[in-house]
Amino acid sequence: MKGNAKCYADLRAYCETLPIVDCHDHSGECGPKYEDPIQVILNGYFPSDIQSASSDAAIIALQDKERSLEDRWPILERAWKRTCHTGYAQVTRRVLKKFYDEDTLTLETLYRIREKLLDLTDPETFDHILAEANIAARILDIWPDTRKVLDGSLELTPRGRLAISLPGFHAVRNYEEVQGVGRVVKRVITSLDEYLAACREIFEGHKRYGAVTFKDQSAYSRSLAYGNPTRAEAEAVFNWFMEDPRRSASYPDGVKPLDDYLFHEFMRMARDLDLPVQIHTGHMAGIRNDIAKTNAVGLTKVIELHQEVRFDLFHANWPYGGELIYLGKNYPNVSLDFCWANIIDPIYCQNLFKQALSAVPHGKIHGYGSDFGGSVERAWAHAQIARDNIAIALSDLVELDYLSLDEAKEVAHAWLFGNANEFFRLGL
Ligand SMILES: [Zn+2]
Repeated sequence: MKGNAKCYADLRAYCETLPIVDCHDHSGECGPKYEDPIQVILNGYFPSDIQSASSDAAIIALQDKERSLEDRWPILERAWKRTCHTGYAQVTRRVLKKFYDEDTLTLETLYRIREKLLDLTDPETFDHILAEANIAARILDIWPDTRKVLDGSLELTPRGRLAISLPGFHAVRNYEEVQGVGRVVKRVITSLDEYLAACREIFEGHKRYGAVTFKDQSAYSRSLAYGNPTRAEAEAVFNWFMEDPRRSASYPDGVKPLDDYLFHEFMRMARDLDLPVQIHTGHMAGIRNDIAKTNAVGLTKVIELHQEVRFDLFHANWPYGGELIYLGKNYPNVSLDFCWANIIDPIYCQNLFKQALSAVPHGKIHGYGSDFGGSVERAWAHAQIARDNIAIALSDLVELDYLSLDEAKEVAHAWLFGNANEFFRLGL
């Protein structure tokens, strides 16, 4: 992508020189080792667009490596022609160009790719691509073996900093899930107090390990509109399932008082540990999920109550940009995070970056997060698109005489690196 402004090339070249903070990724291990050329095309999020443009049966057929390329190509060709202009497709196109030297997608392309499939399992290869993307650090939400975090033996993928994966701790619905948490600290839990104490101990252990933030993506399976139930209401649910290990609290109403109560308790722990809280808002991976429950505006009461907790609201709340701008502008404890959003919808981000600059203090914006698991070649492509989006947005504003080119460079530095470095205390 290219901007129209006279200073675009200058600003884009400057962005290329900047190290960037990857505010959100899921790379628990290095990889993958590609075994199928169609996997190269369909890795990451792109399968969702292909599925949306074809059918469930088509995506299953395409991902079946046992079927020949000749057999699958007509299905892929038809779907590709219908979806090759989305942001996700842009990632695939850039990967094809950079790592396989291919400009177009044909059956012959797949034959050539088959001869040079990437193996990203080697940490050095993985790190080399991160270096090319100039990704200085990445915040990893990887649901690790918690025991390894506590004893310090967990090894992170290159340039990684750990996030504390929160949802499993407050979505507990039965005895067994509670004891799963208890086993981490080698205790059998019998009460809500004991459960909270175990959680606190685990989170403190994460901080000692080096965790830089909490991360919560509960919006996939529940509304972000947390209530504020009493302890008695929460304890009634907890005690109900604890007194009979065969019971399980029902979704969503049965478990809600406990889930909501625990979430608030964990916000207090985040405050005490002085760690920010990253929250998934907006669009969800996969297809066919309910978007209304993920709108960041649902968090208003949480944000207002927990003034001393610093919230990092994810994915530019796509497609609810207006609500996100409002929250960022009005609450000192809210930052806007464009992780993943730069490829969900590049044009939305270009527009929202502009709007954010004019409405939200620019020191509260985090511009990039790759949000893949492995697939570091896609993180490279994603970083390129994020740099494009920021350079396009800011150079357009320079053209408007809204700010000078030097000021635009300062903002680009803050959005790609400085703000996140400070917010997450990465010490880079
Ligand atoms: Zn994610």
